[in-house]
Amino acid sequence: YKYCPECGKKLIDRQAGDDGAVPFCDDCQRYWFDTFASCVIVMVVNELHEVAMLHQSYISDEHETFVAGFMTPGETAEQATTREVKEELGLDVDCLDYVGTHWFARREQLMHAFIGHVKRADFNLSSEVDGASWVALDDAPARMFPDRPGNTQHILYRHYKSKV
Ligand SMILES: [Zn+2]
Repeated sequence: YKYCPECGKKLIDRQAGDDGAVPFCDDCQRYWFDTFASCVIVMVVNELHEVAMLHQSYISDEHETFVAGFMTPGETAEQATTREVKEELGLDVDCLDYVGTHWFARREQLMHAFIGHVKRADFNLSSEVDGASWVALDDAPARMFPDRPGNTQHILYRHYKSKV
């Protein structure tokens, strides 16, 4: 932040304990720490260990995605995850396994990663999703984005694969 989002005054750098210099508004008497988006990503799996792979052409025509989305204020990561699975695939999550947080550097987003367990059913897709299919666990990596450092899809995949 360079200007106060509340009152518009130019911010000054002020020492904030262990955090070092942080932009500060003299009028509002508050610090403005850098903010970033919190998002959820969930690998949806069913009782046959199949993975829900999504085709979303606004993201990629070459690679398939997992359910993902932005958290909204007032919502927990677990609520956002359950909501996104319902919105994008039309499925109810029976239980979630938390697989930690992962920094998505390219978009400066903190990704909260989950495995979402559902019962196998047909999808009822949102308009953001161009297609989806149940894919055998071993066939999923070839359809995912390349396994680069920090790719949360593969972190989730390896976590789940090591448990089944
Ligand atoms: Zn201010």
